[in-house]
Amino acid sequence: MTISKLAEIGRILREHQRFAILSHVRPDGDALGCQLALALSLQALGKEVQVWNEDGMLEKYSFLPRAELLTKPPSTPEDFDVAVALDTAIQNRLGTSLAAVRSSKIWINIDHHLSNPGYGDVVYIDTAAPATAEILFRLIKSQGLPFNRDIAENLYAAISTDTGSFQYPKTSAHTFEIAAELIRAGLDVGRLSQQLYENYPRRRLELLRELLRTMRFQQQDRVASFSLTLKTAAELGIIPEDNEGLIDHLRAIRGVIVAVFFEELTDSKVRVSMRSKTDEVDVCAICQKFGGGGHTLAAGARVRGTLAEVEERVLKEVCEKVESLKPLQY
Ligand code: 5GP
Ligand code: MN
Repeated sequence: MTISKLAEIGRILREHQRFAILSHVRPDGDALGCQLALALSLQALGKEVQVWNEDGMLEKYSFLPRAELLTKPPSTPEDFDVAVALDTAIQNRLGTSLAAVRSSKIWINIDHHLSNPGYGDVVYIDTAAPATAEILFRLIKSQGLPFNRDIAENLYAAISTDTGSFQYPKTSAHTFEIAAELIRAGLDVGRLSQQLYENYPRRRLELLRELLRTMRFQQQDRVASFSLTLKTAAELGIIPEDNEGLIDHLRAIRGVIVAVFFEELTDSKVRVSMRSKTDEVDVCAICQKFGGGGHTLAAGARVRGTLAEVEERVLKEVCEKVESLKPLQY
């Protein structure tokens, strides 16, 4: 089933000419790395590709090979043979990229999110994969699609960031085998890791300092959270990509089971980001109650309301789930 699905996707990619390669709003390393990797492979096959993301290329990932291929979508929609949604749990999260595709003969959906309902004509979802890039690597290798060092760097950056540098529980022997193959394609792990993890703008740490001032604990220190107001974000000159990963500081505290980050948005909504250390607290299920989704251990939602209202409603739900749990045992 798996192999035949990859073969079907491989055949569609070879048989068509005009492609839209898309991923979710507020993209992460997996989303952007996957888009560039697939686009480069298709370009090497002589295909025409448009690589669009509502937010365009993020400053912090602009070192990725051929990053200039990825742009914000145009305001005038275009027609395609094939549109590919990568790493995108629900089609709406393609944002303005979705609106920029006027028509596509075939929609392909390649993802690893548990909450993906399987939209599109050809669907490949593997929730065991720690990154969508792992699925893309399998597709490229199994179908003999073009592969080179630039593609390898994009896939490595995607896998490294989505596994928390090869640490999260879905990281497997297979993940390391893929990483080894990517490194053999000629990439420099030390250099790439510095570009990814040792090149933060100073304001990111200034933001962390402000977030830590708001840090609070509930349920005998098993629930930790912090919040970002629009006022603080404006004072520090924060851009959305600055806060990716800061929630990990909360999760990393001994005894914390669930970490929550609240970010006030301009449209009377609050972005909620959630992490869990145990399958016993499924944060995807909690976020789905608020209209969001994601993975069992990492999920998010955008919730209407003031910061204080959303904090109260969401933390109440989290605390109810954590209340009956025993402390984590290592
Ligand atoms: P993060 O907290 O890093 O923004 O997101 C964690 C995970 O939850 C990601 O896999 C992301 O796709 C998913 N996620 C975050 N926000 C939303 C949301 O508003 N809706 C849905 N469906 N998923 C989300
Ligand atoms: Mn991903």
